[in-house]
Amino acid sequence: MKVVLPDSTELELPDGATGLDAARAIGPKLAEQAVLVRSNGAVQDLRLPLQDGQPVQFLTTRDTSDPDALSVLRHSSAHLLAEAVRRLYPGVKVAIGPPIENGFYYDFEFPEPIREDDLEKIEAEIQRELKEGRSWEREEISAAEAKQRFLEENEPYKVELVDTAEGQISLYTQGEFTDLCRGPHLQDSKPIKAVKLTSLAGAYWRGDEKNKQLTRIYGTAFYSQADLDQYLERLEQAKTRDHRRLGLQLDLFHFDEHSPGSPFWHPKGMAIYNALEELRRRENERRGYSEVKTPLIYDKALWITSGHWEKFRENMFLIPIDEEHTYAIKPMNCPGHMLLFGSALRSYRDLPIRYAEAAPLHRNELAGALHGLTRVRYVTQDDAHIFCTREQIDSELDGTLDYLRYLYGIFGLEPRAELSTRPDNKLGTDEEWDFTEGELVRALERHEIDYFVGEGEGSFYGPKIDLHMTDVLGRSWQLGTIQLDAQMPARFGLTYMGADNAEHPVFVIHRALLGSFERFIGILTEHYAGAFPFWLAPVQLRLIPVAEPHREAVHELQRRLAAEGFRVDVDERDDTLGKRIRDAELEKVPYTIVYGDRESDSSLAVRERRGEQSTLSLEELLERFRVEIATIST
Ligand SMILES: [Zn+2]
Ligand SMILES: [Zn+2]
Repeated sequence: MKVVLPDSTELELPDGATGLDAARAIGPKLAEQAVLVRSNGAVQDLRLPLQDGQPVQFLTTRDTSDPDALSVLRHSSAHLLAEAVRRLYPGVKVAIGPPIENGFYYDFEFPEPIREDDLEKIEAEIQRELKEGRSWEREEISAAEAKQRFLEENEPYKVELVDTAEGQISLYTQGEFTDLCRGPHLQDSKPIKAVKLTSLAGAYWRGDEKNKQLTRIYGTAFYSQADLDQYLERLEQAKTRDHRRLGLQLDLFHFDEHSPGSPFWHPKGMAIYNALEELRRRENERRGYSEVKTPLIYDKALWITSGHWEKFRENMFLIPIDEEHTYAIKPMNCPGHMLLFGSALRSYRDLPIRYAEAAPLHRNELAGALHGLTRVRYVTQDDAHIFCTREQIDSELDGTLDYLRYLYGIFGLEPRAELSTRPDNKLGTDEEWDFTEGELVRALERHEIDYFVGEGEGSFYGPKIDLHMTDVLGRSWQLGTIQLDAQMPARFGLTYMGADNAEHPVFVIHRALLGSFERFIGILTEHYAGAFPFWLAPVQLRLIPVAEPHREAVHELQRRLAAEGFRVDVDERDDTLGKRIRDAELEKVPYTIVYGDRESDSSLAVRERRGEQSTLSLEELLERFRVEIATIST
């Protein structure tokens, strides 16, 4: 038989030859360094036979940043972790241990709880294994044999996994540990040059809260110590930007277990929130949107009409009233806006109608999925619904994309655009979807926005353009979304009277450009590392009186600046000047004035967050602030 190498040459091999055989046929060096076979994007263990005509690419220990090569290294490291834990903690039961982005984990049921301090000891045991050297053996056995084996070893989680496994059962053994595992794995442990256990967490067996809580040990591994060092350094930098940490440090918000996933906004966080809200209102008004307000709770009948009852119910908070009535708190504004549009007869002369509403929405996200401000249950979107005719779709999409460009430009954000197409559970016909998807594609092309396609990722009522941002920890979050919908208005029987005196179907563009205020502020906090630009900064100017006699003048100055609409506070604590100046720096306040004997309206020593100092008159300072606001940008 033959396999095809990446340069299109063919390699003759005996029937049944494995990846490792093929590597040997090419050369001993390759055979030694090979870690994996990749074939049409799929990975395959080196020990498995190749097929006639199969395209074959070898990944080696030199592919140090290839995700697949890292994945096999980390998966093998997870098995070393399990071996180490079993040796150190007799009676422990092992569950699962896959590679993940940036590392791996393994879940265990420990006889006694362990602590972060234990990780060092476990890591030392892994180092000992590495020093001794390990190699992996693969065997394929029947489910009955596998079950017998794990019953004898008293590993109930593995027994359960065998019971629910589909296809071939395979085992991998290294040293004293055998795992039920599909692979692929390294040949031996030599390529693992750096391993680090990073943290401990609780995790439910099979991710289900009804099951037992296990202990998850996270770790990571690399092909070189330098790569690990670089990764840990980046992680450290990311931690200092983590919005959950900065949120507490800068006194912006907190969370409380009495309402998980719902932020408590502190006055300083609210200042940021309101600055964004002002931007939203001002731009909506400029661009012909009408502000509306619709109810928060609705009878189940509405959700049945909208399709949410069928497709989205498990994400909704329900309020049972009596035997016949159940209400639900809205997870989206759309159905309310459909009712509003349908409350009067509409003529072609009324369209387009653009309803905007930033109402609080609630979505019952799983507790385990909640993450600071970036995944919450209480969501406020900068939401709007544009009701328009078929002919108006182009120009309304153009207006929406212009608006989007303008907003993201303010923050210097460059999100990735994804065109999400018809999902399996779509409402409506393929012809309708051909039309709506086509409209979105043409709009993206008119605006020269690069995009990738998320096949089947659309919402059940229409295709959408989603904008994604990657945070400092490398996680991707969705920000804005623009959806074109012919289904929901049809379900609500919405039409308009055309110039021809006939009823026509109406189209709806659902759009939230920043996405949610919560997530957006979370992303911005990390994006700016807490040093918000002047127009967003919770405190724009801090005044520090040098001594008691300066307090009155300082408060007078504060009143005058506040009257001009600026956020100014006074630090008159008894602490030393040095300490108060330092605190203003830590809080990343854009401007600080230390007010002493030499200060007056004609002469103020102004310190900027960037370190520059200048002496300005009050008029000059006000002018500087007005310019900062007028040119809202970084
Ligand atoms: Zn495994
Ligand atoms: Zn909507």
